[in-house]
Amino acid sequence: MAPSNGPRSGKNTKPSQRTGNLKRKRVEEDLSSLVKRVEDLDLKGKFEAFSDLPLSEPTISGLTSSHFKTLTDIQSRAISQALKGRDVLGAAKTGSGKTLAFLVPILESLYRKQWSEHDGLGALIISPTRELAIQIFEVLRKIGRYHTFSAGLVIGGKSLREEQERLGRMNILVCTPGRMLQHLDQTAFFETHNLHMLVLDEADRIMDMGFQKTVDAIVGHLPPQRQTLLFSATQTKKVSDLARLSLQDPEYVAVHEAASSATPSKLQQHYIVTPLAQKLDILWSFIRSNLKTKTIVFLSSGKQVRFVYESFRRMQPGVPLLHLHGRQKQGGRLDITTRFSQAQHAVLFSTDVSARGLDFPAVDWVIQLDCPEDADTYIHRVGRTARYERDGRAVLFLDPSEEKGMLTRLEQKKVTVERINVKANKQQTIKHQLQNMCFKDPELKYLGQKAFISYVKSVYVQKDKEVFILKELNLENFAGSLGLPGAPRIKFIKGDDTKERKNASRATAYVSSADEGSDEDGGKKKPKEKEVRTKYDRMFERRNQDVLADHYSKLINDDGTIAAPSRTVEDADEDDDFLSVKRRFEAGDKDLGARSESESDAASDSDEEVEGEMKGPSSGAKVVKISDKDTLVIDSKRREKLLKSKKKLLKFKGKGTKLVYDDEGNPHEIYEMEDEDAFKARGDAKEQQARFLAEEVQRTQMADMEDKAVAKQKKREKKEKKKARERELNAEEEREEAVAQLVPYDEDEGMADNYSASSSEETEAPRPSKRAKVQEPEQIPWYKQEKKKPASGERQIQTLEDLESLATGLLG
Ligand code: ADP
Ligand code: MG
Repeated sequence: MAPSNGPRSGKNTKPSQRTGNLKRKRVEEDLSSLVKRVEDLDLKGKFEAFSDLPLSEPTISGLTSSHFKTLTDIQSRAISQALKGRDVLGAAKTGSGKTLAFLVPILESLYRKQWSEHDGLGALIISPTRELAIQIFEVLRKIGRYHTFSAGLVIGGKSLREEQERLGRMNILVCTPGRMLQHLDQTAFFETHNLHMLVLDEADRIMDMGFQKTVDAIVGHLPPQRQTLLFSATQTKKVSDLARLSLQDPEYVAVHEAASSATPSKLQQHYIVTPLAQKLDILWSFIRSNLKTKTIVFLSSGKQVRFVYESFRRMQPGVPLLHLHGRQKQGGRLDITTRFSQAQHAVLFSTDVSARGLDFPAVDWVIQLDCPEDADTYIHRVGRTARYERDGRAVLFLDPSEEKGMLTRLEQKKVTVERINVKANKQQTIKHQLQNMCFKDPELKYLGQKAFISYVKSVYVQKDKEVFILKELNLENFAGSLGLPGAPRIKFIKGDDTKERKNASRATAYVSSADEGSDEDGGKKKPKEKEVRTKYDRMFERRNQDVLADHYSKLINDDGTIAAPSRTVEDADEDDDFLSVKRRFEAGDKDLGARSESESDAASDSDEEVEGEMKGPSSGAKVVKISDKDTLVIDSKRREKLLKSKKKLLKFKGKGTKLVYDDEGNPHEIYEMEDEDAFKARGDAKEQQARFLAEEVQRTQMADMEDKAVAKQKKREKKEKKKARERELNAEEEREEAVAQLVPYDEDEGMADNYSASSSEETEAPRPSKRAKVQEPEQIPWYKQEKKKPASGERQIQTLEDLESLATGLLG
């Protein structure tokens, strides 16, 4: 046994033979007394503190120095059962301390068996995500620091060969299913026949469809005689699952089964009902008015995460923004989770990759911008806040079409949410800013298009059709709210005009898909005029233009004419309630337009049948004639100012026609001055005009196709570059790892010294710039985020390799 204080068995100063013998004897005595205490343990007893349980000294010391003293309910019941060697099905709310409930029994079990390096793998912990695996590993490292076991992470992200070399030496492994199976199948000397404990954290997720086969295959490699522990916040007792895992008479430990709510009691849960097209406005307003908080925003896809992150970042809200999704590289993901953990104020945009199990300290808000696929996902997402006796708040954004269905689902799972409204004076509209940014930056526009498509697809593939009704969503407005000129075409949508779309040229790629909604009135949608779309599209593809996209989109109708804001008096009445939560114009602007574009979105969200029609000017908006042909809608103070500047007004006037004057001083169109015969010879004037227009359209289409080809080529090059970079990085990592392995572990010096020695070496050695970026010198593990510096005796963890090498050193 390795006692917590006093001489460690691995000390360099050689203990005399006699002391050694004495020590061994004492260890043996302690061990047999511990085994006896476990045998005598009365499972009906009440255990309040870790010290009430029969735990080994190294475990108690590890817990004490990590400041864990009292037991949570799940810990009290699950640990006592597991100590007795029983299989356990543990279900308890998020943040209730399930991690320790399985880590402590693992350490104890191996300790009582006096597990050593030569016994091989003793315990395997499976986690659904890499991030969670890392966190579990961190906790294991903390509380297991006085044990002599070795522990490793098997989560991919680096070369298989490297991991293979380490595997044989590990006693405890924390893994993700895919990578683990790869090793079980491919690593020659990786023996699991000795395995004594299997743990599945977030078991319901691991046992669900996505991982089913992998987990079955892993279990196939493990000996059936083992102890199995399953933990989750939303666990079901599916008999088939239990059979698959060959659980033996498992003890079902569900501490919150009788609770009135499935979520933590200190969690305040709200929802707001908002049309899809207004989500981003509200999110932005929320972030702007909550700069001093730590928030996680959940979105349905990585592409959405990227777009919202990239666009919000450019608008500089005044709080650090981070983003996390499954397609980021491992190093980056680890860096982001660490940074978010340490941050006092930050917003993390994330997919469900962080919905499960992750323990970020002190998260104030969880915002679900996109509706979760089911109530369980909801519970896991909100569980990122209000962890372990802390407060937390959660807001769910629901489109009116999702409200009824989702609330029913939540109710069925004992989740109570309270409706709240958005504060009028805090509401801001960012649609125009987004349009402007997308207009000037095609890359952002591209991200927006991807985000749009992935969102629509995510709704389309949802199983619960009572909650997710694609038809009900106003996609055209949603695309507009992302700053896009129109809704990108999506292939899977079956509608009246799918065929037409297929036949349409590539130049019309942004044909609206809002027809989903219009199908309802049975009306066949008129195909849009190609010319208009092309022109519109062209506008958005131009770079470095000062013509503001928002003005343009506000003013141009589908048929290319200049339009007033699409409002009717009836609409205004219907939306009284909505208007009351919006800030538009200060007092004194009464005669100006009372609405912004986003408001008209909201209105048309609810009255889709008028969508697409040209609507008269709203009661308050002023339409001013600025030339014979051109009009300008005055719906804001800025617009009114425009009227004072002739120069600025030029932008809103159509292009002039070139006139020539005859000898009498009369103006003529240029063609009139041509040789009339020659002109007529070319055909009728009208025909000539039509021909010219057709040619121009074709030219634009060609240009558009060329642009797209260039973009494609660029994308390909970027991809190749990225691959090359990755290859380089891998090679670097391998080299570094080799160097790291040369640094000897000096047990006499203790962990802190060892680390500082190796870390100073690291700082002296020239580091590749890529890695330097990931390894910020001030990084400290997230669980110590309040302390400025790591306590002495603790190492700083900066990369996965650090984590692993640290654990092999500490536990082994
Ligand atoms: P769960 O897995 O149930 O969601 P975790 O195991 O991640 O919860 O624990 C949530 C938080 O509670 C963590 O920050 C952890 O450090 C803390 N915690 C767990 N057990 C205890 C305890 N016995 N005493 C104090 N804090 C605890
Ligand atoms: Mg957990």
